[in-house]
Amino acid sequence: MTSSKDIKPFSKPACASITLPGSKSITNRAMILAAVSGGELEIKNALFSRDTIIMADCLKRLGYAVDSDRDSRSINISARGQTVPNQQAELFVGNAGTAARFVTALCAANKGGEYFFDSDEAMYKRPIKGLIDALRQQGSEFEFVGKRDCFPFKMRAGGLSGGEVQIDASASSQLLSALLMASPLAEKKTKVMLSSGTVSRPFVEMTLNMMVDFGFQCKKLPDGSFEIGTKLPDTKRKAYFVEPDATAASYFAILPALTGGAILLEDFANCTLQGDLKFLDILEECGLVKIHKVTGGALAVKAEDLGDKDLKSINFSDISDTFLTLAAASAALKEKIKIEGISHTRAQETDRVSAMANELKKVCQEVSEGEDYLEISPWEDTGKALENLNGPVDIKTYADHRIAMSFGILGSADIFHTGRPWIRIEDPQCVSKTWENFFDILDSARESSEKFRIVAVDGGAAVGKSSVSKAVSKMLNLMHVDTGSHYRTLTFALIEANLADADEVKAAEFLSRIELGTSFDKANSYSARMTLGGRLVRDEDLRTKAVNERVSIFASMPAVRNFLKDYQRSMAGYAKEHGFSGLIMEGRDIGSVIFPDADVRIFLDADEQTRAQRRAKEGISDSIAARDHMDKSRKTAPLVCPQGATLIDTSNLTKDDVIARTAAEICKAI
Ligand code: C5P
Repeated sequence: MTSSKDIKPFSKPACASITLPGSKSITNRAMILAAVSGGELEIKNALFSRDTIIMADCLKRLGYAVDSDRDSRSINISARGQTVPNQQAELFVGNAGTAARFVTALCAANKGGEYFFDSDEAMYKRPIKGLIDALRQQGSEFEFVGKRDCFPFKMRAGGLSGGEVQIDASASSQLLSALLMASPLAEKKTKVMLSSGTVSRPFVEMTLNMMVDFGFQCKKLPDGSFEIGTKLPDTKRKAYFVEPDATAASYFAILPALTGGAILLEDFANCTLQGDLKFLDILEECGLVKIHKVTGGALAVKAEDLGDKDLKSINFSDISDTFLTLAAASAALKEKIKIEGISHTRAQETDRVSAMANELKKVCQEVSEGEDYLEISPWEDTGKALENLNGPVDIKTYADHRIAMSFGILGSADIFHTGRPWIRIEDPQCVSKTWENFFDILDSARESSEKFRIVAVDGGAAVGKSSVSKAVSKMLNLMHVDTGSHYRTLTFALIEANLADADEVKAAEFLSRIELGTSFDKANSYSARMTLGGRLVRDEDLRTKAVNERVSIFASMPAVRNFLKDYQRSMAGYAKEHGFSGLIMEGRDIGSVIFPDADVRIFLDADEQTRAQRRAKEGISDSIAARDHMDKSRKTAPLVCPQGATLIDTSNLTKDDVIARTAAEICKAI
């Protein structure tokens, strides 16, 4: 029985961290390369899906020790030094293109072995002939159960002779990848020549890059052929980390464009192998999101000038799996967009071009469809009132996981500002093809985004606390409070009352007559300011030489600090009442004294010279060294890096880097 799923829109800007599944293509290549290299390998961050389970099962049947642990997402493969341990095996490759082709080539290398291959019926029709011909040339023999040159078949492995080998990989690049990965087992150096071109070049690059990474000798020659040496790697890899899947990343990378906020794509900063990584560049070029590399991943943040770029048309022929992500999210664009180069996707899980057009039309998009393209107008242009919708729109998925996921992301946009679902996905289970728990992850990303969080940002003078906290507050809808200005405001008032040299008793007596309040101009700023008796002291009056000189003296008085403590703590409730997603408070003792249980504690630091330069640039003459010394050495609430805080040395980082790193910590926090 299939059920449908209503997509609950995000009521707050996105603020979550996403663990992406590992790449299927890389997981299955890593398994084959482990077998070919004859060592022992732990594959980390492996994808567990039907296709990878089939690959692992084939290797087991061939006598490799395969030990998988779904929870820790690792697969251990031990080849015990042998090429293909079992001389005979019955193998089942399902509908997994990679397993079907890669395992066939691997088995062919084991001269004298006899292997029987069967598959899902769908695989009977998928191309394998090009590879079979290349293996025949080198000595293997085949007997077909049904149609010639198709699954199922029996192979009498003749080994791989090496030398010049021709392959027709025009029907699938996997045929070529299979031959390349098995060729190190040949008797002599192999030169693989393409009899006609191949498709999906990025996947061939992936194969070559991984082979080099595993220590095999392989290179592409200027004439377009490939040379594979027979020397197996001397030092075998012990562990291999599978890059997170770039196509999967596309969904959560585009999400902030629809919901605002930011999403941290964990472990996604250093991916290089996958063609679909180009989608992230497209998102930036479109002006939809900005991608920042940070420690621990890549942060996707809603771009400020959303959709202002002239998009015209984008060609997706190399990265067509991701076109659906952009097509479904095109609602957020300001310009009409044309997605081209996608005719071949009409023969994928479904006719993806028509399917997208049909479903987009249901949500009142103006869509025109050509053989090779889709042209989609943004909501604003359609003039049609989405408000007329009665309840959620049913989106058919055509058993295509990518349609389900891309509309799941679109439905996350709260376009009516009601929080009510307006997209219903039929057959959401179809996502299991590549990402079993996609909708659970989407749900938890929304829940994480809706959780109120308290962020403490501490650090000395001129380390960049204010500029970073203000930028992050805007990015993640957090209320910003600068507690330095609280101490400055009190200092200003004391000076004004001719109490510049007051001792603690006099200062306390003065404060007991003062009433604190909060001023807040939500339309223009995310910062809440403290008022004294209803009066907001002007910024320039808080930064005079006199205030600079006195503020740390007053701030070291326990009576002054106690006077502010409850007020500062009350700001969390104030932020909640005003609909913020959280509070970001900056100062010297926020993570240590005011909110020691803050969800996020950041400590910013910078070297002396950098800070002095920053202040000079702002035209501020301030005795920061003296103030820092006083702040660090005072008895009450001294300036310290709070326990468990993330320390960021900003000296050699750009402001954008620090903002992104801080935002990433906040996304990760819940
Ligand atoms: O951040 P700003 O430089 O405006 O802070 C001025 C002074 O206020 C600091 O040098 C410090 O003495 C005091 N302060 C504090 N605790 C805070 C914030 C500021 O003692 N939480």
